[in-house]
Amino acid sequence: MHTLHGIFTQETNFYKGHDVYQLIEQFGSPLYVYNEDILRARCRDMKHLVNYKNFIPHYSIKANTNIHLLRIVHEEGLHADVMSPGEIYLALQSGFKPEELFFIPNNVTASDMQFAIDHGVMTSVDSLDQLKLYGELNPGGKVAIRFNPGVGAGHHEKVVTGGKKTKFGVNPEYIPEVKRILETYNLTLAGINQHIGSLFMDYAPYIASLDSILNIARQFEDLEFIDLGGGFGIPYHKQDGEARLDIKALGEKLDPVLKAFSDEYGKEIQFQIEPGRYIPCESGLLLGEVTATKTNAEHKYLGTNIGFNTLQRPIMYDSHHDIELYSKEVKNPPVSPLTVVGNICESGDILAKDRILPEACRGDLIAMMDAGAYGYCMASCYNQRFRPAEILIESNGSIRQIRKRDTFEDLIHNMQ
Ligand SMILES: *Cc1c(COP(=O)(O)O)cnc(C)c1O
Repeated sequence: MHTLHGIFTQETNFYKGHDVYQLIEQFGSPLYVYNEDILRARCRDMKHLVNYKNFIPHYSIKANTNIHLLRIVHEEGLHADVMSPGEIYLALQSGFKPEELFFIPNNVTASDMQFAIDHGVMTSVDSLDQLKLYGELNPGGKVAIRFNPGVGAGHHEKVVTGGKKTKFGVNPEYIPEVKRILETYNLTLAGINQHIGSLFMDYAPYIASLDSILNIARQFEDLEFIDLGGGFGIPYHKQDGEARLDIKALGEKLDPVLKAFSDEYGKEIQFQIEPGRYIPCESGLLLGEVTATKTNAEHKYLGTNIGFNTLQRPIMYDSHHDIELYSKEVKNPPVSPLTVVGNICESGDILAKDRILPEACRGDLIAMMDAGAYGYCMASCYNQRFRPAEILIESNGSIRQIRKRDTFEDLIHNMQ
């Protein structure tokens, strides 16, 4: 195999010597490929972010819910955030204990909430109304509340989850009302949490948001934990030289704030963070085939079998994914602006617009990089295309299939 474009997989020895053509032949195409070493490295980044002792990252499992990957994350000592009964189920199946889970749902039904209560999972509510519901279902119990710190951040307006223009969190002005509801139902407030948005590369807004959550914490006695939220970004534009989030500097900024607060609060309170995509994103890529090239009204198109049913982020958030191209032959095709598209019958099915790339041709392979988060878990069988298989390249170099590709029967079995 010869690489036409991209160096990330070479630099990281991502495929550990396996030939991409053989992988496709064995497991089908497109194919999600994960690298265990990278996944573990990202877990350790977060686990050792600060020196403060009572600190635990909760991996937000909605980003990637493959139970084999979840087991690795659990082995690395992370806890998990879950958003639904389905995620609670998957997390428990992967070996997380109920006390290692934190349920942070939004607008859940009574039965969703009851599921968490029955399974002994700490729940955070997102409105006064849901706090009352919790009180009705579990009077005398322990609960957490998600506050809106009034600060937002993120890469796209759909992912900003703090500040004035979002549905999330309880505004701090309602604290007196919160206290009344807690008292009415004899609830203990075990913790508070926030999440200001996704994919920050500059940690300043995250640090700025600490003031408000700690101010809220001061208004409650004897909390067990404070959850500072997630949103840790990864460099999707590596090919343009984008720098990584400086987690060492972030940790150095965070540490003294945590220490000072615990001194003031009078106990070594537990601090949690909620990394989601940071954990699996760079460990996964989506491998597919170049199926056709053509020129339409001066635009050059690179047709592939990576439809938006297999990777939704470009169509949903206008997201950029770096691209690598591979060929069986050694060749150096000319470089030009190419629009890379998938195989779904919609004109929005675009993976990259006018990207400067070598003119690959039918039979070459393409990899969408940084697809380990919000990749497979958002995939569908739209156009009745199969969801891909997932494979893991283990630390010892062996390949493990961690999910089968869909089959024709999968398209019909729930209708029978
Ligand atoms: C999605 C989510 C996260 C993780 O977000 P990322 O962008 O994947 O880092 C963390 N906390 C909550 C409450 C979330 O909903």
